Amino acid sequence: GKIPVGISACLTGQKVRYNGGHKQSRYCLDVLQDCFEFKTFCPEVAAGLGIPREPIRLVGLPDELPRALGTNDPSLDATDDLLAVGTEFARQNRDLRGFILMKGSPSCGMERVKVYHPNGMPNTADQGLFVRTLRQTNPELPLEEEARMNDAVLRENFIARVFAYDDWKTS
Ligand code: SF4
Repeated sequence: GKIPVGISACLTGQKVRYNGGHKQSRYCLDVLQDCFEFKTFCPEVAAGLGIPREPIRLVGLPDELPRALGTNDPSLDATDDLLAVGTEFARQNRDLRGFILMKGSPSCGMERVKVYHPNGMPNTADQGLFVRTLRQTNPELPLEEEARMNDAVLRENFIARVFAYDDWKTS
């Protein structure tokens, strides 16, 4: 059968973004779905934030782990809920052989997600909170951002890592 790979739900066309929209990736649906069986997940919906919802962003000082706070209402702190649902997902889905991520998201971004200083200015960059839980729970899991799949080298590299990881897990 096909290899099970997780994917940020908005990339498959599910209308789970903060504004009720999606970020459907034709490439993922048309090409990658030929070899992978997608397991969709939206950590922000799983955390009970709702659709539509207050957009969140990462906030923190350079020497501390960022928190996920409401962009317009910083009293909304989704950090603990996002970390909890992410860890639970990672524990319950150890059959996954990779995860395809939506870039730039405070939850799903793999890297270079903006972190805002508490004074409101963009300051540093980090991974999203869901990605942090994936890496903590299963450091070997191959990860890639959908946007980077445009690069043939990165795309082939990700697919090769998924197959190698599957071989290793099933041997
Ligand atoms: Fe997409 Fe992840 Fe944002 Fe959900 S949390 S809308 S899956 S980027």
